[in-house]
Amino acid sequence: MSVSGKTMAMIIPQKTLDQLTDVAMPKHTATRQPDEMLELEGITVPVYRCEALVVGSGAAGLRAAVELKRRNVDVLVATQTLFWGTSACSGSDKQTLHTAATSNRGDNFIHLANALSAGGAMDADTAYVEATGSIEAFAGLKYIGLPLPEDRYGATLRYQTDHDEAGRATSCGPRTSRLMVKVLAEEANRLAVPFVDHSTIIRLLIDDHGDNRRIAGAVAINTGARSAGNPAGVAIYLCPSLVLAAGGPGELFRDSVYPNRCFGSLGLALEAGIHTVNLTENQFGIGTRRDEFPWNLSGTYVQCMPYIYSVDQHGEEHNFLADYYRTTQELAANIFRKGYQWPIHATRMLNFGSSLVDLAIFTESQQGRTLYMDFNRNPLAVPGDRPFSLHELDEDVAQYLTNNEAMLAMPIERLRRMNPLAIELYKHHGHDISTTPLPFNVNHQHMNGGLAVDMWGETSLAGCFAVGEAAGTHGVTRPGGAALNAGQVFGQRCARQIASKSKPTNIPASDLLPQIRLCTVEIDAGMNNEQGLNIAHIKQEIQQRMSDKAGFICQAEEVKGALVAARELNDRIREQGIAIPFANKVAVSFQWRHMALASEAVLSALDFYINNGGGSRGARAICSSQGEEIPVTRTGVLEQYRFITEKPEHRQQQLVVSYQQSQFTVTPQPLRQLDNLDAIFFEKNWPDFLTGEIYR
Ligand SMILES: Cc1cc2nc3c(=O)[nH]c(=O)nc-3n(C[C@H](O)[C@H](O)[C@H](O)COP(=O)(O)OP(=O)(O)OC[C@H]3O[C@@H](n4cnc5c(N)ncnc54)[C@H](O)[C@@H]3O)c2cc1C
Repeated sequence: MSVSGKTMAMIIPQKTLDQLTDVAMPKHTATRQPDEMLELEGITVPVYRCEALVVGSGAAGLRAAVELKRRNVDVLVATQTLFWGTSACSGSDKQTLHTAATSNRGDNFIHLANALSAGGAMDADTAYVEATGSIEAFAGLKYIGLPLPEDRYGATLRYQTDHDEAGRATSCGPRTSRLMVKVLAEEANRLAVPFVDHSTIIRLLIDDHGDNRRIAGAVAINTGARSAGNPAGVAIYLCPSLVLAAGGPGELFRDSVYPNRCFGSLGLALEAGIHTVNLTENQFGIGTRRDEFPWNLSGTYVQCMPYIYSVDQHGEEHNFLADYYRTTQELAANIFRKGYQWPIHATRMLNFGSSLVDLAIFTESQQGRTLYMDFNRNPLAVPGDRPFSLHELDEDVAQYLTNNEAMLAMPIERLRRMNPLAIELYKHHGHDISTTPLPFNVNHQHMNGGLAVDMWGETSLAGCFAVGEAAGTHGVTRPGGAALNAGQVFGQRCARQIASKSKPTNIPASDLLPQIRLCTVEIDAGMNNEQGLNIAHIKQEIQQRMSDKAGFICQAEEVKGALVAARELNDRIREQGIAIPFANKVAVSFQWRHMALASEAVLSALDFYINNGGGSRGARAICSSQGEEIPVTRTGVLEQYRFITEKPEHRQQQLVVSYQQSQFTVTPQPLRQLDNLDAIFFEKNWPDFLTGEIYR
């Protein structure tokens, strides 16, 4: 059906728009009672046993749980907060899922794998399994009810997103990942997957008998376990397999578009000796601030070309982008291009590219100015140039607006024509962008690196898997939507790997008592430590340092100092401990302890990278007076943002960061390659599938 002459809002019933923006979650989930109670010097602790523990209930964790249960694995999900986290609470104008194209002539998995790893530092086997696995990931979601849009022939509707040359993106609207959580949670309910909600894992337990260290379980703080006999709510999980699906480190940066209370599991895993990879790689871009409503301003929010301006401390408005671009047409085109070039890319700060918009916004906010998007004004003119006009647009801009029948006078009309859900969404969160300008800034949005995993999602600790944003499966860049795909693919793959093993048994809790005791002793010490470090101060120190010294603008000369300060913070935490003022702060005190480790790990990797000549890549500009490139604006060169360029050899390796005896080690390692795919044939390779050899 053509939408000719009508807006989407006129064609689609309000009820449908509401269903895509205001996504209700299932009201109940199955729960599990402890298998036994353990007496631990004065406290009585619940113990849960299962074959596989999934830590986290975002899109990745739920996929792993559902796939495990389908394979008859006794799985239990422990989660800090059910229906909270990035998948449940984040999105953008069309939140994207990136999979192999499923329309017309299909796709080529090698091409897709090449696109996934185009920015370098991505293992070839990971890229290939994400490409081939995307079909099943996608079909599974469709089967359980994800409303992925299709045409009358059953082909999925697709569009082009960032780092995507072929148009492999699709979306259910602003809340794709929340809808994924919803349908996966409904499926988990159908399969009676048990959950323990308000359960925060604070330490991994390790079976270190024999030659191989392997996962044995975890210590948690369970709100439901709090009692007079266990004031902190300590709980124990015993499991031979554990899947970390705790998401990304949203709290690492002050300027962050993650929902609040996203800590991820970097520090938790580092503490257990698990290796991490690509910690230098993040995504930054424009969005609304998380104190209000954390949301990405990508896609049609900018393709409708709102007026972007800043307001200083005296209330004066500045058309600051006009200082950066040479003509009004160029300025408008670069606002538009942020739609599908949303994450910052250092090289796009050159040649009047689209990341100059982000750089300009960053510079304004450094001066204490507040940034706004006004959807009721077109971009104002560059001094001396003609005003904005629909008759003077770059070809790609004009074509896009024409194709979408959105050649309309004002940004709000263009947005309403292209994507009324984008307006609805902010309305649901108390901001009517059709009447009031929207404050925003540049934020940390995603960590591409994370825990190092093999092509089944297994970490360097046997039996411990990582999926979703917890895993460092992406390279320097990733197409928009590849994060959600990776979580689904590795959710399936880790389940297959776990289910392929003969059923292992849990080691007795008594063998783990020394490790459990260390943890309870730390809790006791924190609760009686008035001289310990203050949680709020630790938070402020880490976030400020990371945003100011390791954000998308990173002054090479300042990283060493930031690393020294991060190291000192960890020394102080070791010496003085963290004060835990109330029992309900125990979990968060561990999370900030872990975040302090994660921060030192990231800065160690960055420092190593820079010392070895590492330059600007992905979303981070490594600025230095020694840099070879310099962004140029209409009003002159930006000497303070002169930056070092990337060295091609760094694309062929990853930096592995590990932690042992309070020391971080950074080691470059070459990328994993694929076997010769041309040597795989049906009769020859079928036995490996039948015998389970493919899992080994
Ligand atoms: C604004 C925004 C827009 C985005 N848009 C896109 C997009 O368009 N396409 C795309 O592919 N990606 C996008 N991303 C990234 C993507 O949403 C995330 O990478 C993905 O949702 C992460 O899913 P996850 O399941 O790994 O983690 P999450 O959804 O964050 O879930 C983590 C879970 O772990 C739990 N948890 C955390 N710590 C613990 C602990 N210690 N113990 C127990 N439980 C714990 C949490 O409660 C939560 O349930 C976007 C991100 C943001 C912030």
